[in-house]
This record gives sequence, structure tokens and C-alpha cells, in this order.
Amino acid sequence: MGAPTESYVKLSKEESMILSNEQVYVPEYVCVLDDTLLRDVCVTSGTGPGAWVLINSNKSFEELNDLLGPNELNLAKIDATSLAMDILGRPITNTAIVGALAKISGLYTLDQLAAALKLQFKGAIADKNIELINQTFQEVEIQEPVRDYDREKAEKLVWGHLEPQYIGAEDVPIGAPWYTPGGSEKVNTGGWGIYRIEFYPEHCSQCQNCYFACPDMCIVREKREDGLWYVTGTDDFHCKGCRLCVEVCPGKKGVIARKAILKE
Ligand code: SF4
Ligand code: SF4
Repeated sequence: MGAPTESYVKLSKEESMILSNEQVYVPEYVCVLDDTLLRDVCVTSGTGPGAWVLINSNKSFEELNDLLGPNELNLAKIDATSLAMDILGRPITNTAIVGALAKISGLYTLDQLAAALKLQFKGAIADKNIELINQTFQEVEIQEPVRDYDREKAEKLVWGHLEPQYIGAEDVPIGAPWYTPGGSEKVNTGGWGIYRIEFYPEHCSQCQNCYFACPDMCIVREKREDGLWYVTGTDDFHCKGCRLCVEVCPGKKGVIARKAILKE
């Protein structure tokens, strides 16, 4: 099963300002690449009044505030998934988000970002990513009024809130973050996938390719009276829609038994 992932970066216009590389406990900017995380993870941990939360979402600010709860944050949103699909042809949203972040933070310019992208990518891929950051820079929406940031009032993010009674907690190293009682089993990690996988049992040859290919253990099987395991479906709650199971499916008589359907 996939799990919510956090990463950190420290940015400063003055090189000498960055003196350490440990986790960020008091973030001034939080980028949320998947708005379904708002249901399961407190993305605003450690933020103070006026900190920015930039969310990849096509929801309204009202809906996002309902999910976040009462807050004194600055909110910004961009439909990065749709733009990435339009421009890159794939739902890769990290480049899109950093284009929007350039606008709301002013920490770096689009030219600096484009130069960095050219170091990473070449040719048409670089051009498309640069087009994407330009688009998200223009289209990012900012909730009014914008508040001043007050770092002094930020509550330091507490790590290691491990609750020993939770399932699987004994397997987690002391100090690891453990957000949800029951662990990822109870987290809807499939919520952010853009594809839903349809299974057609009449075309399934029970080759088990999908079972071994799925990186998230989302192929549902049952053991029948003959003692063998049979593929019976997909765990939609955790399936991330990577489509690997579709790629490896030979089906039966030339008709595959799995199809990826774009979610509404
Ligand atoms: S798309 Fe298929 S392989 Fe990918 S997570 Fe879902 S069930 Fe697993
Ligand atoms: S890969 Fe396709 S044919 Fe093979 S078990 Fe999975 S669904 Fe059935």
C-alpha cells in the first residue's frame, strides 16, 4: 500500500542562511500535491499564522477551508494535475507546483527555475516543463486577504507521536511519524489516483501476473476449494492507478481482463 509522503526543502535568497539540513519543523510554505491528503493528514502541522499552504486542487477555497478547519493561513491553489495532463500528458505535478510556488513565495524567479529544469531535462521534455511552470505561475489562485507571516506564533511540529497500541506500531522505529490509527491500511491511499481499474473476470486466465506486478498489494484474490488462489478484483481503496497490472495482463484469447478508466 502506498503511504502519504513528506519531503522538505530549505530555500533562502542568501546562501549563508541555510545552516542545517534536518527536517523542517516550522514550515513557512507547505505544498500539497494531492488534496485527498487533507482528509487523512494534518498538512498544516508546525505552521504559524500567515504561513502559506499551496494545494493542487480543483476545489473551491471554501471547500479547502472546510477540509483544513479553522486557520489563519494564506491559501493558494492550482489545478496542477489538469495542467500537467494538458502539457506533459502525464499527471506529474511536482514541476507544476514549483511554478506556482515561485509566484506566491517570490523566493526564486521563473528564469531561475527554467535554468534548473534545463539542467535536469533536455529538448522537448525541458520545453514542456518550462511551459508548465509558466502556466502554473499565471494560473495559481490566492485567497484574499493575504496575511503577514508570524513565525513566532508557529507551534513546532512534533515528530515521533507514536501510539504503541496502534496496529503495527511495534514495527515502526521509535521516533517515526505515525499519523493514523491502524496505519496505512486505514488510509485511503488510492484516493489520489486518476485511474480506476476495472476487472473483467470472464477474460481472466488467472495467470497471476497482476498479483505479482502490483506494487501496492491491491490485487484482491480468494482461495477456493481446489486450494488455489483466484484473482477476483482490485482494492480500489488503496489502488493508486499506476496501471502496471493492466500492462502485464495477457487476459484470455486476446482480450485483457483489466482496463484503466480515467476517473471523473
Ligand atoms: S493500478 Fe493495478 S498495479 Fe497499480 S496499484 Fe492499482 S491494482 Fe496495483
Ligand atoms: S494479469 Fe490479467 S489475466 Fe492474469 S490474473 Fe491478472 S487479471 Fe487475470
